[in-house]
Amino acid sequence: MDEEVKRNYIKAGRISAEVLEYGKSLIKKGNSFLETTESIEKKIFELGGKPAFPVQISCNEIAAHFCVEEDDKAIFDEQVVSLDLGVHVNGAIGDNAYTIDLSGKYSDLVKAAQKALEEALKIINVGTELKEIGKVINDAIASYGYNPVRNLSGHGLDLYNIHDKPTIPNIDNGDKTILQKGMAFAVEPFATTGSGVVHESGLPTVFMLEHKKPVRSPITREILREIETYEGLPFAKRWLTRKFGAKANFALRELTQLGMIHQFPPLVEVNKGIVTQAEHSVLIDDEGEVIVLTGY
Ligand code: MN
Ligand code: MN
Repeated sequence: MDEEVKRNYIKAGRISAEVLEYGKSLIKKGNSFLETTESIEKKIFELGGKPAFPVQISCNEIAAHFCVEEDDKAIFDEQVVSLDLGVHVNGAIGDNAYTIDLSGKYSDLVKAAQKALEEALKIINVGTELKEIGKVINDAIASYGYNPVRNLSGHGLDLYNIHDKPTIPNIDNGDKTILQKGMAFAVEPFATTGSGVVHESGLPTVFMLEHKKPVRSPITREILREIETYEGLPFAKRWLTRKFGAKANFALRELTQLGMIHQFPPLVEVNKGIVTQAEHSVLIDDEGEVIVLTGY
């Protein structure tokens, strides 16, 4: 791995971790989702990074991919709140997440995801099989009496690519692929009181440009130029509506119809089980040293 790329990963990880700490301090009963989300995104820029994806604040049975719109009026109440954010520096990504229990009822469920992440990090090394990571995560969560979410997983991190190979499972999936030098990836256990499966539910507010095609409408072309500045990474509908108003909705519809846009609807536990998450990004450098990029 190029030395500069490695430095960028380390910087992105450090900013991610600092912004996560800042974000955690804002998640309090009575604060608004929208202001919190926007303050966190602003902090990413202030510290010299860019969002690798829109800041996501998913509550209770929503495991991931919930992102407010610009007219959202919701405030934090007695929810279980997962904050997931990513930062990139010249495409090198740090991705991390943390769950805060504002209900006072799910501290063990929060601990289960954190313990699973800790145990996974302990065995991460050159030569570790992916299925071993999944087993450790599953066992840690099961020891608290909960289920891992088995159709969510960690993922490789590549430059300007948040969901690269390999898939880092949250159960023993039998994958004997081994970790190698030069790999960057995110490990993200999810624990739930439900059966451990999520499905897509609700309207997407997170999108990603997937294929470029010629576009006729001048409005859509203008908005496509903005979307191209996100460099192929996921973006929020809110970023566009803030800048372009209702035109953004028209353009997103057209780009979706043209098959250019990938949508990320909220992911909800099928039994409406409460879900918690913990996540760190890891780099194994060319010497085989394991660096927890978002650790501190
Ligand atoms: Mn994440
Ligand atoms: Mn992730």
